[in-house]
Amino acid sequence: MNLITDNDEPLFSSPIHVDFDMTNACNLACRHCHAASGKRQDNELTTAEIKNIISQLHESGVIDLTLAGGEPFLRPDMSEILAHAQSCFGLYTTVVTNGTLLNKKMIKTLANECPDISFNISIDGSTPDSLDILRHRKNRDQKRRDLLFSQIISGAEFLSATGLSLGVSFVVSGMNADELEGVYRLATKELGAKSVTAIRFFPAGYGKNALNELELKYQQWQGESMKACFLNDPCK
Ligand code: SF4
Repeated sequence: MNLITDNDEPLFSSPIHVDFDMTNACNLACRHCHAASGKRQDNELTTAEIKNIISQLHESGVIDLTLAGGEPFLRPDMSEILAHAQSCFGLYTTVVTNGTLLNKKMIKTLANECPDISFNISIDGSTPDSLDILRHRKNRDQKRRDLLFSQIISGAEFLSATGLSLGVSFVVSGMNADELEGVYRLATKELGAKSVTAIRFFPAGYGKNALNELELKYQQWQGESMKACFLNDPCK
């Protein structure tokens, strides 16, 4: 980005926002995963390399950083990386996670080491079965569905209760669009989320294999977006 001011001076000399995927490893096998995550790659960046890149982004003027994966908390160095990002004054950092590894011990560590980081948990269904439409483990049965849902929800609840900042994101596809309202209510009324972000499904990674089922027609996306605006209306 290079916006020009009246004085012909660029207002920004770097992107304002950067998405940084730090690992390809993931413990889920979601139907829509645009990154086709699963196995950790042999040549993934070291802790020192990641911290160095974050410092360089900060120094170059980036003010909004999203750290993601794969599942970032499969990296044993995540709290160290987040603490480093937090130490970069003026850099607003969010970590996007599937929430499955946010147990009480991990959340207490995060609350001690990086309380100013924002957490964004992906929840695309308001029940174990509706979540499972997109988000699931490789082997799927009812017991695993129930367990996955309760792990994600209890992690989100404890995160909020500990005082950390929680947001929820929802991938809207042709298969789960009618769940948006339920997730919005779950996130804001029960989990203490400060934001709910609806992301339109786009066909990449594993999502390309199920395009017919997952595709969200533009009119449907518009309709869901309007509903989401209505839900967000503070007068309602
Ligand atoms: S969408 Fe996220 S949680 Fe699901 S497989 Fe991909 S990286 Fe993992």
